[in-house]
Amino acid sequence: MKLYSTNNTSSSVSFKEAVFNSMPQDRGLYMPVTIPRLSDEFINNLDKYTLPEIAFEVAKTLLGDTIPVADLKALIEDAINFDAPVIKLEEDVYVLELFHGPSLAFKDFGARFMSRVMSYFLEKGEKQLDVLVATSGDTGGAVALGFLGVPNTRVTILYPKGKVSGVQEQQLTTNGQNIRALEVDGTFDDCQALVKQAFTDAELNSEYRLTSANSINIARLVPQTFYYFNAYAQLLRQGKSKVAFCVPSGNFGNIGAGLLAWKMGLPVEQFIAATNANDTVPAFLKTGIYNAKPSVATISNAMDVGNPSNWVRIADLFKEDTAKLNKLIEGYSYNDDETLEALKQVFADYNYVVCPHTAIAWKALKEWHADHKEVTGVFLSTAHPCKFPDVIPADIASNITIPASVKELEGKEKQAVQLPADFEAFKAYLLKNV
Ligand SMILES: *Cc1c(COP(=O)(O)O)cnc(C)c1O
Repeated sequence: MKLYSTNNTSSSVSFKEAVFNSMPQDRGLYMPVTIPRLSDEFINNLDKYTLPEIAFEVAKTLLGDTIPVADLKALIEDAINFDAPVIKLEEDVYVLELFHGPSLAFKDFGARFMSRVMSYFLEKGEKQLDVLVATSGDTGGAVALGFLGVPNTRVTILYPKGKVSGVQEQQLTTNGQNIRALEVDGTFDDCQALVKQAFTDAELNSEYRLTSANSINIARLVPQTFYYFNAYAQLLRQGKSKVAFCVPSGNFGNIGAGLLAWKMGLPVEQFIAATNANDTVPAFLKTGIYNAKPSVATISNAMDVGNPSNWVRIADLFKEDTAKLNKLIEGYSYNDDETLEALKQVFADYNYVVCPHTAIAWKALKEWHADHKEVTGVFLSTAHPCKFPDVIPADIASNITIPASVKELEGKEKQAVQLPADFEAFKAYLLKNV
């Protein structure tokens, strides 16, 4: 597999380089030079395969001989070791539950796959890989649990003090081993600025092999295609083959992976991008004008992105056919009141509790589906509702079944180092704690 930068398609790098660089020097994003199609035979028989089998076939097709097949198979079986069930809520409305991984969010797919790919590519005797990650909540948990115990790697997470939920904080701070958490007295933006500055600091870069684990890394995108194929497989088993996916979107990595799956041959009638008040993309789809804005805070905070970084990838996928992009993707956006109403309505209609991000996807799907009854609609549930207890009304939250993994966290001791939002303090910490 070769990848080019969306800013310069004339030169290319290997998958390994793209994984370790995360971002090209020219600040574009890596995209595959060619996107191979899966055989019709495989697509038509998807219902005969399990999730790990599908993941292996898709990865093998995309990555080519980058990783020998036996190694790739083992890597996938280790990384994708949890389920992604599609559940029927009403006639032709299904939810794809992506929260059965260790951090209870869809980011587990990307983080677990990426950690194992990075570890696989590290040569014997190479310097330990130091992953720095800033989080507003969900990314940090997925990366921490994704890298936990992975040989020759260490993760340092920066999270804003008092601004992540209880479950999120426990997932970040109770791991030990190769994971350490820094509780920063500041905002998520402060955390991100500290990490960005570390990457440009000569002394830190000579001391450590620093890498980022953010959502623009191509190794996070690839595994997110797997569950689209697997969802389709489950619907085929129920006799459904005309499918639309509605994706709650922030940085547009998740829906970008869906579009990549489509490009590889997955038959999808429609993608629906559902956002909160950060509506840059829905507004673009309506007006044709892409107007990046500063992000605004909402109750679906994992989607508070005013300038989605993965949008350039989606634009790149459709650069030869922008009319197709406009047809294939519909956009909807909702404010916090509408989000909360949707969350309540989902519970009233199905006795099913969703997180606020998922509630937005449900609402968008229902709005679209009203005029498209002949298509089976699937909305993606990106996180378990127990991660957002403060946002969910108490009478609904009391119906959430707490997963065993969360109960286990409760007894564990929080280990976090307090830091001011100050680069010199952060740097001193890193240099002192080799
Ligand atoms: C990260 C996240 C999103 C947004 O996904 P993108 O790939 O950034 O569009 C949506 N919901 C939840 C719960 C998330 O953690």
